[in-house]
Amino acid sequence: MTPSLDALCRHCLLPVSRRGFLRAVNGEACQFCCYGCCIAYQVKNGSGDASEAAWFLVRLGVGSFLSMNIMLFSLLVYSGAFSGADRSVLPTIHLLLWGLATPAVLILGQPFLRETWSQARRGRLTLRPSSFSAVLPPTATPPWPCSSGAATCISIPPRWC
Ligand SMILES: [Zn+2]
Repeated sequence: MTPSLDALCRHCLLPVSRRGFLRAVNGEACQFCCYGCCIAYQVKNGSGDASEAAWFLVRLGVGSFLSMNIMLFSLLVYSGAFSGADRSVLPTIHLLLWGLATPAVLILGQPFLRETWSQARRGRLTLRPSSFSAVLPPTATPPWPCSSGAATCISIPPRWC
């Protein structure tokens, strides 16, 4: 027996259980199997403040996830967990940190970049460009080993020479 079309999730088309969500999107009542489908559908098909709030929630969640992983691996690097025999893993960890930091900066820095661009078009200079420009170059630099001979290069993510 197949469920009726009304009992299917509007986003993923899976059956909606008793714990499903009922949410109005663009004035139309929609059923969702989970909160993730509800948010994804609002981001993709919604309009107005609800869609913008859902997109903000997605950006905040993804940015928080990336930031927490960056802090976790950075803590392991700085605590010396990858020393001795595990030192060969460090370049991979730095590449992983770079891979996590780049989308985090792009996702979380999007409002800064948008406002900076908006203010620059009006000929105004605020503090937001300086704060964003301080984060962007170290993050945009690939984590290849440097040749300075120093013990540690100051960068985000940190690199060992
Ligand atoms: Zn669904």
